[in-house]
Order: sequence, then C-alpha cells, then structure tokens
Amino acid sequence: MDLVPPIDPPGSWGPPDASGQVRVVSSRPELQCWEHGCNGQPFSNISNLLRHQREKSGVAAKATCSKCGAEFTRTTARNKHLNRCKKMDTQPS
Ligand SMILES: [Zn+2]
Ligand SMILES: [Zn+2]
Repeated sequence: MDLVPPIDPPGSWGPPDASGQVRVVSSRPELQCWEHGCNGQPFSNISNLLRHQREKSGVAAKATCSKCGAEFTRTTARNKHLNRCKKMDTQPS
C-alpha cells in the first residue's frame, strides 16, 4: 500500500488570477430622478432619492389640514400651517 503523493501545493499553478477581485467600474446605480419634472436631478445617496420619490409620488402619508383641508407634502409643514389656520377655528372663549 503505497501512500498517495500529495497534490501540488497551492501557489504553484498558473499566474495570479483576478477572479477574487471585484469590479467597481460602472456598478454605481444612477441616483437621479427623471420624474416629476426633476430633469435628472442628482442625489448624493439612495435614501435621499427614495425619500424624494416617496414624497413626490404621494405614497408617504399626505398631511392634510383638518380645518381647511389643505394638503402638504410634509407633516411638519402641515403642523406649522395648523398653528396659523384660522378656518373653522372655534375659539373656546
Ligand atoms: Zn423627482
Ligand atoms: Zn388649514
């Protein structure tokens, strides 16, 4: 029973392979908005772009003034408006 000769040690085969390298060329997604008339407005990161598209598409809960029914893209804008909205404002006193 002869021992099986060991296989060639690693590193002895061929030139260094580039299979382990990751190509980063042109792998970056296009962070631009071509909707809402934005005309390719660039965004620095994907979250900014997604937030922008959510706001523009109206998927995000649209803030509405409970007094006059005015619509706002941001709840903060609505709240600011609510403080000034005098429509149907029933004064307690
Ligand atoms: Zn847009
Ligand atoms: Zn209002």
